[in-house]
Amino acid sequence: MDSFFSRKYVIQAIFIAITLTLLLRIFYIQVVDDQYLLSANNNVLRRLIIYPARGIILDRNLKVLAQNEPVYDLMVIPGQVAPFDTLAFCSLIAISKTQFDKQFIKAKKYSLYRASVFEKQLSAKTSAGLQERLFEYPGFYVQNRSVRYYPDSTAAQFLGYIGEVNDREIEKSGSFYNKGDYIGKSGIEKSYEDLLRGQRGVRNIMVDVHNREKGRFFEGKYDTLAVSGDNLIASLDKRIQLMGEQLMRNKIGSIVAIEPETGEILAFVSSPGYDPNMMVGRQRGNNYMKLLDDSNKPMFIRPTQAEYPPGSIFKIINALVAQQFQTIDYNTIYSCPGGYRYGYRGFMKCTHVHGSLNLIGAIQESCNTYFGYTYAKMVDKSGLRPINGFRKWREAVSKFGIGGKLDIDLPGERKGLLPTAELYTKRWKSERWGSGFNISLSIGQGELGITPLQMANVVAIVANRGFYYKPHLIKAIGAKKIIRPEFTQKNYVGIDTQYFSPVIEGMSRVVKQGTAYYSKINDIEMCGKTGTVQNPHGENHSVFFAFAPRNNPKIAIAVVVENAGYGATWSAPIASLLVEKYLKDSISRPKYYTDRLLKANLLPKKPIPLASKRVKDSLRLVFIKDSLKKLPETKNSNAKPKDTLKRNLTIKTPKKLLDTLRKNIPQKNLKKEKDSLKKYISTKKSKTITDTLTKK
Ligand SMILES: [Zn+2]
Repeated sequence: MDSFFSRKYVIQAIFIAITLTLLLRIFYIQVVDDQYLLSANNNVLRRLIIYPARGIILDRNLKVLAQNEPVYDLMVIPGQVAPFDTLAFCSLIAISKTQFDKQFIKAKKYSLYRASVFEKQLSAKTSAGLQERLFEYPGFYVQNRSVRYYPDSTAAQFLGYIGEVNDREIEKSGSFYNKGDYIGKSGIEKSYEDLLRGQRGVRNIMVDVHNREKGRFFEGKYDTLAVSGDNLIASLDKRIQLMGEQLMRNKIGSIVAIEPETGEILAFVSSPGYDPNMMVGRQRGNNYMKLLDDSNKPMFIRPTQAEYPPGSIFKIINALVAQQFQTIDYNTIYSCPGGYRYGYRGFMKCTHVHGSLNLIGAIQESCNTYFGYTYAKMVDKSGLRPINGFRKWREAVSKFGIGGKLDIDLPGERKGLLPTAELYTKRWKSERWGSGFNISLSIGQGELGITPLQMANVVAIVANRGFYYKPHLIKAIGAKKIIRPEFTQKNYVGIDTQYFSPVIEGMSRVVKQGTAYYSKINDIEMCGKTGTVQNPHGENHSVFFAFAPRNNPKIAIAVVVENAGYGATWSAPIASLLVEKYLKDSISRPKYYTDRLLKANLLPKKPIPLASKRVKDSLRLVFIKDSLKKLPETKNSNAKPKDTLKRNLTIKTPKKLLDTLRKNIPQKNLKKEKDSLKKYISTKKSKTITDTLTKK
């Protein structure tokens, strides 16, 4: 009983407390706090948001990459709007009457008494013309804002872009953002959003019925100041960034250049690129769709998202790991009879008969045989079972940042692929496999996926003789020039310094007298390695990575040009020009050297537009394909006799149809088209099909 009574009093006390709180709150709102006066008298008071300047992004030499440009949003509070000359108003801001009606309804739907954007991003000129006559249009006002402007139209995929927040982003931010606010959507703009965005301010002003400003509310007592976002100093060097973008025009691929002694990224080219200014302004939506539709995928951030088998540049890693394992030393000699034999019938070819080579020679000549032997010894003769020999090898390779993210300060990085022992056990349905089952790994082919960023990081490791700093794109934040602590830590890869000497000597010879001879730079000793990566979908990819100078290296660079053929022909000369530009700020090579690269168009061939005499065929083809799609499923069909129908379908008509296809579809798509057509034919057997097909 006691407890019942005490509980009863507790509940009563709670009720009384709540009532008192509410009463006090009402008193406070109505009598004490004049902030509520703002909303009570909303018709004369206007709350202007002061948008902070977004932090500016500079390059490493403090040249502007991204800045701000003022724009003007036309705002409306529908409840305050009085009748006016709509047509005159529409012509002032260059919109149609229909558009006006649509937007006004939208604003009313949002709120009668709260302001919303009526027309976004008016130019300074339009806004000036409008402001002069704003007194004729009560309920409308202009809100200043800034948008991004990229003076050199460069580094789009690195900078990223900003866009209006969506509902999910508003929710995630705990309502920090309001509808209509901008937020970084990709690139640096996204990963450094918290620092770039700054803090919004508010200005409360009084407005009379004629839409004229009548001073500040309570002398600005409730105003808050906007705080600008932090400026960022990017690691990028605009000179070589721009040059890299020019050289990669009409090519698909990447360039990543790193300063080995800091991990700062000097160039970050993703090709094809786009003008970052396309993602700003009133055409943004259309441009965005255009970019998404582009078959060469300009929105794909190749340096961190494209994964390739690395090809011969991977021999550098195998050379280092094998020495560390003491499988070979710089003096180990293997003889190359033109290829490496393994298993019962396996043969991995070399470009030619290399004869006897030591490690330096094997790197210079890029001898597959040498690395076949070396890899086989690491896996099969490590004193462990081959599967565990492989595991040990894999562990050593992964320390180079292969098969894992490097945690670059950009969203969307991919980790690539370094196959596990389990993959092969599953494939061969046994644990008893050895080097012969994945010998391609010795020369960087097979189940490997490495991003251009990872390639550049590997060559930075070689330049540093054994360690790397996490590659990053922002070198200093704000006025205090803060550097993130994780960017100043050395990451060792578990290879002793002395093992780098023969590898670097080999790489120096690649440029001095080997495959990359054509890319030699006057007075600068560059050490590099070419690669030509087999590509099952078309032409080989051209790969090159290098660092320079040999002593006290200042730049490490990786270049990938897709479908371009030999590494020595395209990637190496592009890298060498950028290295020279970076180190000397000038180019010593003759004009034709650069022109050849600038003019080359290595984009995959687009399907040739159908010649006019073939138009008829193509129209027929479209017709046939469309009518096939529209046909009813087999079960709905009453077609008979079945046998005749079947014969018609499988023997006569498809051949004709396939001939038409062959004429009109590019070779590489033919198989796909054929298969899809066969599928249609086999699933849809009706009278109509036969008719359609035989008639045509
Ligand atoms: Zn060889």
